[in-house]
Amino acid sequence: MTILMAPGGSLEMAFASLARGADSVYVGPRGWSRRPATDELDDGAIAELVAEAARDGKDVRVAINVMPAPGEVGLFLDRVASFAKIGVSGVMVCDPGLIPLVRRAHPDLDIHVSVTAGVFNVEDVRFYDELGADYVVLPYRWGVEEAAQIRAASPMKLEAFLFQNPHRGRICPGRCYSSSYFHVKHLRGDDDKDIYLGSAARGGSCYRICRGEWSLTAGDRRHPDSPRLKSSPELLLWEVPEYVAMGVERFKIPGRERTAPLVADIVGFYRRVIDAALRGERIEGFAPEWLELKDRWSGERDNRDDSRIRGAERAGRAIRAGVAA
Ligand code: SF4
Repeated sequence: MTILMAPGGSLEMAFASLARGADSVYVGPRGWSRRPATDELDDGAIAELVAEAARDGKDVRVAINVMPAPGEVGLFLDRVASFAKIGVSGVMVCDPGLIPLVRRAHPDLDIHVSVTAGVFNVEDVRFYDELGADYVVLPYRWGVEEAAQIRAASPMKLEAFLFQNPHRGRICPGRCYSSSYFHVKHLRGDDDKDIYLGSAARGGSCYRICRGEWSLTAGDRRHPDSPRLKSSPELLLWEVPEYVAMGVERFKIPGRERTAPLVADIVGFYRRVIDAALRGERIEGFAPEWLELKDRWSGERDNRDDSRIRGAERAGRAIRAGVAA
């Protein structure tokens, strides 16, 4: 079965995605999913979404992909147990040590190895398979060739992003420590979890500092380039039939931080593309709509990144001035 999975950065986005043809929605629980609180859902909203999705035979998955500190492991397992209890059917996890604990406690819950686990090669996939994971989320710097290698070498189910890096960046998703060095404020979540604003891995989102303009200097010499540390992924089209033919189980649309109308249009688009590919039809006719969606996607991404970087600059100025950010 080929499943189209959409982001649920808000209830509005999640319901619109289900209405436009998503089979599944993934959401982030507040404080536990590497996003600003505005793009995460509280437990009541997650329960409402699970009930609504189940009415149409669809499902909800929870991205709980931060790295718990030693004292937070029990809290993490409690969170997973509460999601399983309300009918969530899968969790995205990035901490390998926690996967066997989740597997033992919840044999029926699907465990997805989050893209933030930073899977590098087929041996990594085998390792996560032995730990008890069900799905591996393919890093979006990978392509059809790498997915085929995993398919041939491992029974792990595949989850492919519907976007990809056109250029190889300098930072691999999940292997970035920049944000962790840039936390600007420490808070306590409602459930007593530590939140470090600015540090995605500790539940405080990230200021997208990889998207800023950096300079390379050595003493008073400056490198002529201003490198971007990370290139921006773009929505893909031409690879979809190959992924479908390979039997990729889940296609994932990113974008919890985008607007609900854009995400809904992207869901509707990929619903038609995937269905056409499943019927063995050609997909060239989708190209104009794809180009238009790519433009809208990039526009929203640039606005979002600019505003997050401005937030980082403001926080940096406040710290330098000795004012609590
Ligand atoms: S700084 Fe960039 S690469 Fe690092 S976590 Fe943030 S968005 Fe990802």
